[in-house]
Amino acid sequence: MIRNSSEHVHDVVVVGAGAAGVGVAVTLGHAGVEDLVVIERHTVGSSFAAWPAETRFITPSYATNSIGMLDINSIAMGTSPAYSLEVEHPTGEDYAKYLRAVAHFFEVPVRTNTNVLQVAQEGDGFRIDTDDEALYAKHVIWAAGEFQYPRLSGFPGSDLCRHTATIPSYDDLDGDEIIIIGGYESGIDAAYHLAYCDKRVRVFDIDCPWESESSDPSIALSPFTLERIHERPFVERVELHGNSAIECVTCTDGGYEVAVEGGQRFRTPVPPLLASGFEGSHRLVAELFEQRDDGYLLLSEDDESTMTPGIFLCGPAVRHNNHVFCFIFKYRQRFAVVAKAIATSLGLPADALEEYRKWGMYLDDLSCCGEGCVC
Ligand SMILES: Cc1cc2nc3c(=O)[nH]c(=O)nc-3n(C[C@H](O)[C@H](O)[C@H](O)COP(=O)(O)OP(=O)(O)OC[C@H]3O[C@@H](n4cnc5c(N)ncnc54)[C@H](O)[C@@H]3O)c2cc1C
Repeated sequence: MIRNSSEHVHDVVVVGAGAAGVGVAVTLGHAGVEDLVVIERHTVGSSFAAWPAETRFITPSYATNSIGMLDINSIAMGTSPAYSLEVEHPTGEDYAKYLRAVAHFFEVPVRTNTNVLQVAQEGDGFRIDTDDEALYAKHVIWAAGEFQYPRLSGFPGSDLCRHTATIPSYDDLDGDEIIIIGGYESGIDAAYHLAYCDKRVRVFDIDCPWESESSDPSIALSPFTLERIHERPFVERVELHGNSAIECVTCTDGGYEVAVEGGQRFRTPVPPLLASGFEGSHRLVAELFEQRDDGYLLLSEDDESTMTPGIFLCGPAVRHNNHVFCFIFKYRQRFAVVAKAIATSLGLPADALEEYRKWGMYLDDLSCCGEGCVC
């Protein structure tokens, strides 16, 4: 496709109106960028709205803004999910409401129900092919997230399982005995709700996340989850199998058999649940980035492609060395870094972004990361 010279070239196109896309769009507004559009395949916050109904944020919200500390789940200065939702651990639907309110308040220009098919470099900018037209931009921010791109592979028979990202409510799940593959936050969350629905649950994990001694919540379970593990229904109905890699899942007469490395086999009448994480959407733009050995995208110190200047990554797939930015309170600190780089390239001063430092929303020196808790 060749661009018609009369075609408008946006300063920035953001792909995805989740926490990352809305958050970075607000920040671009503060940096003085006016010609931007956010392209969203569904509606603002649609991944959150699709969480299982019972799932709640593990990170607690609290209205700490009056003392200059941003609510840990906030994506924009001066806003607080605790304040607007009046809950400490929002559901996905609650949080989608918060995102819609932020997008509305800051007048973020979102084009909904528009799916981005691919992004390609064209001239000194980018062509963004959507399902109804091509858009053009000097800069692209990829913020299409992970939730809508679950990891469905990993062992033979994984296609027989059902990913937790496809479950509207644990209350509606058939079967009295459920096997869950994956024992990090999503797997333990599923086990907890199923135990409260009177199901017997077995959780298998290749490691043993519930015994991790790390103080990094990207590795160890959150206190919210650890507390729930000790509740009576969980203790009585959930078996945790650590250091148990799954060899395969097969169909048997009237059900499924899960083979664990080492020889143990378990049967279940209903499809095992996969809580094995997400492939992530970043593979859709992987051609425009160098890759790290672990498959994540290699990023400059501004979260820009090292290979194709002008395209940036925002959200939970951001990695720098061994730093994992998978939580909102982590990746929101990079919005200002990206906005500053884009504003500078557009010749805008972006002085207003200095305010972000006061709110712990501007992490451009990663040397502070990595310190654990001493007690
Ligand atoms: C079950 C669960 C619980 C979590 N709990 C917490 C928590 O308690 N605290 C915390 O900090 N983090 C939590 N996280 C991690 C993280 O905050 C979420 O993954 C968050 O959704 C990431 O936001 P995002 O904007 O990157 O992605 P998303 O919310 O998925 O937003 C991406 C948006 O892009 C759109 N999109 C995708 N592909 C396209 C395309 N091709 N074209 C156009 N639009 C597209 C989607 O519709 C979506 O609206 C949790 C994650 C999960 C899955």
